[in-house]
Amino acid sequence: MIILSAFQPQLPSPLIPFTPPWEGASNVTMMVKRDDAIHPVVSGNKWRKLKYTIENLPPTVESIVSFGGGFSNHLHALGFVCHTLGLPFHAIVRGNYEGNESPMLNDLLHWHANLHYVNKDTYQKRHEKRYLAQLNAQFPNCLIVPEGGSQSDALFGLSELIDEIDHPFDTIIAPVASGATLAGIVKGLAPTQHALGIGVLKGEGYLESLVSQFLDHEMNWRITHDFHCGGYAKQPRYLKTFCAQFNTSMPFAIEPVYSGKVFYALQQLLREGAFRKGERIVILHTGGLQGARPKGN
Ligand SMILES: *Cc1c(COP(=O)(O)O)cnc(C)c1O
Repeated sequence: MIILSAFQPQLPSPLIPFTPPWEGASNVTMMVKRDDAIHPVVSGNKWRKLKYTIENLPPTVESIVSFGGGFSNHLHALGFVCHTLGLPFHAIVRGNYEGNESPMLNDLLHWHANLHYVNKDTYQKRHEKRYLAQLNAQFPNCLIVPEGGSQSDALFGLSELIDEIDHPFDTIIAPVASGATLAGIVKGLAPTQHALGIGVLKGEGYLESLVSQFLDHEMNWRITHDFHCGGYAKQPRYLKTFCAQFNTSMPFAIEPVYSGKVFYALQQLLREGAFRKGERIVILHTGGLQGARPKGN
């Protein structure tokens, strides 16, 4: 069995007080769960998602196949883990970045990953049985990990983050893309606690269906769709400005795709008085700063 603790993760991840000089902030108590600090490369929720999949890897598996965009935190994390373990890695990448690689793709190349650029239509098939069978034939004895690392055993690793929080809290806030992170959190909550998801893409109804597919009857969660800022990875000027100001004045950094939208939402919700007086809030920092690196880094 592979033991991921050989990667020396910082676990439990730090839980730090958060006291921004924002309107409404003094009405509540806030702490940030710093999953961005778990590992210098395999950061945030991608560590937790991969943990059990990698630790329980059948010995017959000869390579790993997975999917993502050109800046994917998931491909980055998985690519590093495969490289370190000496497992061949096939990354199916949406779009053709040949000769125009992002910092993420350059890292993958450096880690000897096999990059397979596919067009939108092929990428669309990433959940289809026939396409997956074709990949299985192309890469014999491979393990296919779904986009975002959101296989159902990812939930076990994710819900451990709740067990690590040794302070009482009422609400935990986290970003939602494929929904596995929010679902894993909900699995770990006590019935009196709530999770608030911040949708980072346009997906009213759709994001809820992604989360509930992983859950049984848990009801103590909801998603707000007011802070996707135009869609996945869309970065309007106000969001960029918010992140830049945050990063010069706060004790940790955020990026515009996930954590930037979460903290931007938090600032707005505090201003609107959306929380109960005295509410104890944990904000999950899911990491992902590698995706925001400028070219040449
Ligand atoms: C992948 C990712 C998410 C999205 O998590 P889901 O489980 O897909 O909802 C959030 N934050 C960061 C930093 C990520 O890399």
